[in-house]
Amino acid sequence: MRCALCKREAELEKSHVIPKFVFRSMKKESPTGNMRLTSQSNKKVQDGDRQKLLCGSCEDLFNEDETLFANRIYHKYRADSLKEFEYEEWLNRFITSVNWRNLYLDIIGFVMEKNIDPYRLDILIQAEKIMRDYLLKERDNLETIENHIFFFNPISEASDSISDMHLHTVMGGSAFGYTFISYHHDSYYVFLNLQGLIIVTIIKPAQDDSWKNTLVQNEGQLNLNKPQYITTPLFSEFEYLAQQRKQAMEQMSEKQRIQIIDSIKKNPERYKTSKAFEQLQDDLRLKRINDNKRNN
Ligand SMILES: [Zn+2]
Repeated sequence: MRCALCKREAELEKSHVIPKFVFRSMKKESPTGNMRLTSQSNKKVQDGDRQKLLCGSCEDLFNEDETLFANRIYHKYRADSLKEFEYEEWLNRFITSVNWRNLYLDIIGFVMEKNIDPYRLDILIQAEKIMRDYLLKERDNLETIENHIFFFNPISEASDSISDMHLHTVMGGSAFGYTFISYHHDSYYVFLNLQGLIIVTIIKPAQDDSWKNTLVQNEGQLNLNKPQYITTPLFSEFEYLAQQRKQAMEQMSEKQRIQIIDSIKKNPERYKTSKAFEQLQDDLRLKRINDNKRNN
């Protein structure tokens, strides 16, 4: 088989679309000790999904950036100790590598299911090529493609419709990513949500897309003491996911519900110190702020 990145014939390895360290942490942080609460939110969730995609040397090329990202950003974010950080090219490469994997697999899916028109397909294929060349170090920039990093940690302000959606729970308790096209805005994104840490590759933004304090380049620094603001059609996708999850929760069987409540009762301390509990508190706080605004 041919490697998706370097295109050489090789024995391919099964690689994770979502980095391994995320699943280890999700399991550890789940209030019930298993992943039911977090993984059933909707069918697009790809927990631990593995695909034969890359040869050994391309896999190695990605591993280095992944380790740096895990140690310098992800684990600190999960421990609430990420405030300000400097980065070099590994961050741009890490974001590109995970979103490239999703884009590559989505292009295959779109073509197989014949649910994309030639105009949009062409935009995605061109972006895939630019990202691939960058990852192979055949170019040192992404042209007009931009990488961004955004933290739901926690949201301090949101519109009414968003404040009701339990976004902290939805985004913070899961990991998933895919290519998103806004037909209405003719804009294109690939994103990966890693438990509320969202990395986005903007292939083509909408006219009124606005991203503040989120841009990642080949080197730089991000100061999270300053707020991040985003306005983008991609956010409507997160709202959609939140709605789906709400429906899934409502349709959860009585038996499942009792199992979850029982396991929380058995070990309430574990639940109270869990990330899930923290996310629920953040959701309720945001809702309270907006309820108060409405009533005044
Ligand atoms: Zn390769």
